Amino acid sequence: MFYFTYKCRLCGETFSKSGTSNEQAAMDAMILAALGREGDVRMVRVHPCNAKDFGVADLIGAKFTPDK
Ligand SMILES: [Zn+2]
Repeated sequence: MFYFTYKCRLCGETFSKSGTSNEQAAMDAMILAALGREGDVRMVRVHPCNAKDFGVADLIGAKFTPDK
């Protein structure tokens, strides 16, 4: 799976919310996001760091992780 991975500017946590098993779809989504086009994958998202803090997380890549 290719997981769309974000890193929070505030707390530094790296996380992913969605992914795809299709390499071409992963690349297409990354390109659209990088060009600022509307799509399922966005360049930034809000990260609820803990009970009080909300950070801004940047899309850092589509990371491949083999299925288990
Ligand atoms: Zn955070």
